[in-house]
Amino acid sequence: MTPLLDNAAERAVRYLASLNRRRVSPTASAIAALEALSGPLKDGPSDPQAVLVLLDDCGSPATVASAGPRYFGFVTGGTLPAAMAANWLAAAWDQNAGLWVQSPVAAALEETAAGWLRTIFGLPETCGVGFVTGATVANFTCLAAARHGILQRSGWNVEEQGLFGAPEITVIVGNEVHASLLKALSLVGFGKARLTRVPADNQGRMKGDALPPLNDRTLVCIQAGNVNTGAFDPARKICEQAHNAGAWVHVDGAFGLWAAAAPARAYLMDGVNQADSWAVDCHKWLNVPYDSGLAFVRDAESLRASMSLSGAYLQMSDQRDGTLYAPEASRRARGIEVWAALKSLGRSGLAEMIERNCRLAERFATGLRAAGYSVLNEVVLNQVLVSFGDAERTKKVIAEVQNDGTCWCGGTQWQGHTAMRISVSNWSTTEEDVDRSLEAILRIAKSV
Ligand SMILES: *Cc1c(COP(=O)(O)O)cnc(C)c1O
Repeated sequence: MTPLLDNAAERAVRYLASLNRRRVSPTASAIAALEALSGPLKDGPSDPQAVLVLLDDCGSPATVASAGPRYFGFVTGGTLPAAMAANWLAAAWDQNAGLWVQSPVAAALEETAAGWLRTIFGLPETCGVGFVTGATVANFTCLAAARHGILQRSGWNVEEQGLFGAPEITVIVGNEVHASLLKALSLVGFGKARLTRVPADNQGRMKGDALPPLNDRTLVCIQAGNVNTGAFDPARKICEQAHNAGAWVHVDGAFGLWAAAAPARAYLMDGVNQADSWAVDCHKWLNVPYDSGLAFVRDAESLRASMSLSGAYLQMSDQRDGTLYAPEASRRARGIEVWAALKSLGRSGLAEMIERNCRLAERFATGLRAAGYSVLNEVVLNQVLVSFGDAERTKKVIAEVQNDGTCWCGGTQWQGHTAMRISVSNWSTTEEDVDRSLEAILRIAKSV
């Protein structure tokens, strides 16, 4: 096995070294060459070295260099060196993080990393924390806990009785709610068409004075970090109203929650820690490998009740049994990389990474404005929305930027405007990367 793993490590390191030099999007010919990976499964075995070589030769050129410093699509982090090293070791460990007895080390690392993050985000020590695949499932997990907590107050046990005949819950979202929250709501039985939508302002912030009447069977879903603008809903005002009425407040903070780590951005988080549950991604701004997200629930008992699992052969402990905080039973020990990323950065390193990404977003905005293009959002975090004129022209620029390969940016519709989105979320992005990308974007915009 040793020569094989040495070869894999060597090829992985070579790939990483190529990230900064290669095109960000793969060429059409690299995508066409993926054909070599398909075909019917042979009856006989293949040499593992040959499998690795084929994978690297055909697969690596067809990857999107989203791990590299000039990928600004969606909200996409790379992988910090310590997190990648931990991920490699974790692959060798192959731990199942479902139960403490299956992996005391995974449980201990989750417990420690969860504690560090509660402090960083300013959340109560008593929060239950589930390690899940990403913010969609973190939202789902929190919403299941909210559903339990709200219905329990009405004397209804939703895990036993289901939603048939249950007291009705009113679910409130902002008009600029993230698509994945709607998916998560539909998964827990709150239909997308039964939501009450609250108007949002020009940055996508829910209007805090436009909430309908609330009561103790209301679930209010707010957002810390709009995926287009980076804006935060007025959490303090909303939590105050909601809690006066006995309602539950859930926060989708997929990337925005990390603002808490950077002193200059922490003002955005005002009142966010007053909520009842929070979803956050680690594979976005913490820069750990896919997949990794966290669900925090103030009332840990509601989380455990909604995620409970028991069976005669499932040996529970008096320590952390991870499955009691997450939908999955068996799962990979993703707390290992979260722990390693935080341990390697320290609080100041995390603050520096978040703040640097925000400043690089401002650098993009300044360069685009100086060239005469309109930046559509207040750049308060790591997100920039830019228009290059009418919809057709902006779409053309986006397509050319993606095709050019210097960097990668996606598009969006923002309150009636077609825009290009720039999200700066990678630990390795430098000022030089921004300048190189700006040069390409402006060159293309001028020529379209
Ligand atoms: C990315 C994102 C999500 C979904 O996260 P996944 O990790 O892709 O599941 C949810 N909400 C917001 C605000 C996001 O930015």
